Amino acid sequence: MRIPRQALLFLISVAFIAFGAAPTTQPKIIDRLMPMTHSRPRPTTATIDTIVLHFSSDCSQHPDHPYDVAKQIQIYLKAQVSTHYLIDREGNIFRLVDEKRTAWHAGNGSLPWDPSRKSMNNTSIGIEMLAIGSKADMVPLFMSATKYDDLAKKHPEWIGFTDPEYSSLKRLIADIESRHPEIKHDNHHIIGHEDWAGRKRRTDPGQTFDWAKIGLPDHAAAMKRTAEHQ
Ligand SMILES: [Zn+2]
Repeated sequence: MRIPRQALLFLISVAFIAFGAAPTTQPKIIDRLMPMTHSRPRPTTATIDTIVLHFSSDCSQHPDHPYDVAKQIQIYLKAQVSTHYLIDREGNIFRLVDEKRTAWHAGNGSLPWDPSRKSMNNTSIGIEMLAIGSKADMVPLFMSATKYDDLAKKHPEWIGFTDPEYSSLKRLIADIESRHPEIKHDNHHIIGHEDWAGRKRRTDPGQTFDWAKIGLPDHAAAMKRTAEHQ
């Protein structure tokens, strides 16, 4: 059957409008579930109200090849830690632990604005991003100053977060917020690991992370006001 050119153009524009009118905000998520030994059921009383952002890399052991998802999961397994999501440099989102379960990403810490909070893991969702932070973020916690300078000189593009990481993170956060209304889109419900643990113990997502790109431009200022626990 020969479709008249005008009808064809009409059909194409209808398809375009329909597609454009219903943009999908749902991120594509790839399952790479970790063994159940690396998470636990959430307490029935726990309400998920916080997202904790992190960075990870293999820069300490393999500074010439720091961004490998499979290797990164092995590192978590060995360290007895876990996270709900991991975003790679290309923006691929991997699910490592089901949100229904408690992952081990936050450890010890405290919230200056809510001292009653004793545990973060039970009530939060952890998102790791493959990234290497600023020199202050990385030295001495992860490497020596010499090693950092060498890496930053050889691969300046490896420092900080990529645009695909930010755009995937934005979509993932919106998706999580749609399922957990207690997670308000503000600086007290979307926090960095460093905000919970204090920068002496944890420095992620660190100084190179641009909070404005996820709609929280005043994050640093908000944390400074409560910096006495750092
Ligand atoms: Zn962390």
